[in-house]
Amino acid sequence: MFDVFVAGVWHESNTFSPLPADLQRFRDYQWLEEQAMFAALAGTNTEIGGMYGAAAECGFRLHPGLYAAAIPSGPVTREAFEGIAQSIVAALRTLPRCDAVLLALHGAMVVEGFPDGDGELLRRVREVAGERPIVATFDLHANLSDQAFGFADVLVGYDTLPHIDMGMRGREAALILRRILASGHRPQKAMQRLPLITVPQMQASAEEPMRSIMHEVHRREQSLELWCCSVVPGFAYADVAHLGVSVLAYGAGDAAQRCADEMARIIWQRRQQFLPELVDVDAAVQLATRSYDGRAPVVIAEPADNVGGGSPGDITFVLEAVLRIWPQVEDGSAIIMLWDPQALQRVRAVGKGRRFCGEVGGFASEFSGKPVWIDGIVEFLDHVTYARSGPYMTGQKVPMGDVAIINCRGLRVVLTSERVMPFDADHWTVLGLKPEQAKLLCVKGAKAWRAGFGAIAAQEIYVDTLGPTPSNVSRLPYRLIRRPLYPLDADARFD
Ligand SMILES: [Zn+2]
Repeated sequence: MFDVFVAGVWHESNTFSPLPADLQRFRDYQWLEEQAMFAALAGTNTEIGGMYGAAAECGFRLHPGLYAAAIPSGPVTREAFEGIAQSIVAALRTLPRCDAVLLALHGAMVVEGFPDGDGELLRRVREVAGERPIVATFDLHANLSDQAFGFADVLVGYDTLPHIDMGMRGREAALILRRILASGHRPQKAMQRLPLITVPQMQASAEEPMRSIMHEVHRREQSLELWCCSVVPGFAYADVAHLGVSVLAYGAGDAAQRCADEMARIIWQRRQQFLPELVDVDAAVQLATRSYDGRAPVVIAEPADNVGGGSPGDITFVLEAVLRIWPQVEDGSAIIMLWDPQALQRVRAVGKGRRFCGEVGGFASEFSGKPVWIDGIVEFLDHVTYARSGPYMTGQKVPMGDVAIINCRGLRVVLTSERVMPFDADHWTVLGLKPEQAKLLCVKGAKAWRAGFGAIAAQEIYVDTLGPTPSNVSRLPYRLIRRPLYPLDADARFD
């Protein structure tokens, strides 16, 4: 038996987002101390769920510290980070027996004062762990620094977007740790960072160019010398010096270095295939009205207000265009969700079944557009929490806060008091909505929504709007990134 400490902190920090992640944001989303971690996550499709699932066959006795996660947003406050990091480090330090450490990280956490929050946490854990092995998982949307890479013995990244392999990666991390503990050997490691930014819209692992890139990775992982390799397409929405696509590889002899070099070259050759196609907002709504086939909904995806990438979810450009254009063509059933706690207070004052007239959205930042006037019947008003049933983090509990549906002549405006990542169909069906019967679904996301309801979409249109997570990265006011970086700099080179 091996005694293994398990803990985690999961945050994707968007430095262009106006919403900091303070301690309350972590407490509101996922805050699991000690045995609560097992109760909440065992059997779920999460990294820690996967670690628990593999513990018996690995011969691990898992000792849980703290797992804290907050919905992607602006950077983590120093106070929140210190609270979480000190709790994790103290739990590790006071463990009477500990052979190794398993961590579930994100890889794109920015903290006030620490542009590389994951690296800082790993540094502190390494300080206590000493020579004992540390293996950690991380999200596909990671910007991995030399520091994070250096302090962890092995880092295991998600292979999928939409993300559906969190449990498998947690399991893989446990099996790799078992291999280190049983053999007494750590793998050689190699990292390549490319001068390249890619956006979530173009990172779907079942589509090109990622499909053939992942095929190349998995082919190489068949070799016994290579323990594992992660292609990391990066998180474009962090203005940090270590922003960019990277490849991490671990193996015996020179297998890791060879794999990292070859994969970096393959990705660089395909860099133009990562450039997104986008449609102007009015043209997108007109295209949606024209292309509805009478059966399956059209999806207008708005990468620039991707809640799962740290955007607020209150941006109104699409709502405004749908109200102006869609009803003139057809009084059809469309659904759009907006984060707006203030508007919800006004809806509550009106009450369910009554008529609500008022402004919604457009408040969080200069990117958000103007508040938009809506007029409709309050069809639904309640406090909602649900458990995810789709393939994204299956079993995880999600707080939506207060939720109202305002039916504006067939356009259902869903208002929530918590920001909600649209990564499953449950966040609609739990409200009684039937997304498959809608004509138009407006989604605040890039690609991850497809895990929940990609199968019901007849067509998807990607709209070019302002926001903290645009697919068009030239819209972002970067200051701290290292240039040149493709596609901002067409002349960027990689040898
Ligand atoms: Zn991600």
